Amino acid sequence: MYRPVNHGYIEVVVGPMYSGKSEELIRRLKRAKIAKQNIIVFKPHIDDRYSKKDVVSHSGDSIEAIPIKEASSIYDLIDEDVQVVGIDEVQFFDEEIVDIAVDLANKGVRVIAAGLDMDFKGEPFGPTPRLLAVAEFVDKIQAICSVCGQPATRSQRLIDGKPARYDDPIIQVGAVESYEARCRKCHVVK
Ligand code: ADP
Ligand code: ZN
Repeated sequence: MYRPVNHGYIEVVVGPMYSGKSEELIRRLKRAKIAKQNIIVFKPHIDDRYSKKDVVSHSGDSIEAIPIKEASSIYDLIDEDVQVVGIDEVQFFDEEIVDIAVDLANKGVRVIAAGLDMDFKGEPFGPTPRLLAVAEFVDKIQAICSVCGQPATRSQRLIDGKPARYDDPIIQVGAVESYEARCRKCHVVK
């Protein structure tokens, strides 16, 4: 893929759970590292402490990342000479993440964000839709549907093994919650 060399830009990798978003983010960041570029990686964190943690893919690949609570913390943590900013699970950040990505790209940074495009209901997720709109490069990747084996574009939420309802609470005490990748046909929202 053609990449600009004289200005910054935004790349977004989206898809359902298990589609390989983290894998792809890690691959791009590792290649930037090989090119001796100054990279930094962020992921959302519910704690208010900054601790070093990794972005880890389901296949076991990992890269060091800084968990942050608010998108604006990025400004506290980046140096002047940063060239590449990676962001995983971008859907969980506040809307400000979009303005920050744009600002960084305007300043010459390559911003690579990965995250869910849709929630378990199949609806656009958090700031991802706006980020997709302003990005130079978008990759929408698929997982494998766990029911039929076709390309999966959606994340199926299961509660105690059964499809979650549209209005089910985000956290259900005492219930076992899990997720599967599914295609449009096999995806169920009751
Ligand atoms: P994401 O960040 O999109 O959730 P990851 O990069 O963490 O995805 O993991 C992708 C890996 O998950 C694949 O390379 C594969 O090894 C594994 N995997 C497990 N279940 C599935 C599935 N249903 N479809 C595709 N890959 C799957
Ligand atoms: Zn299917």
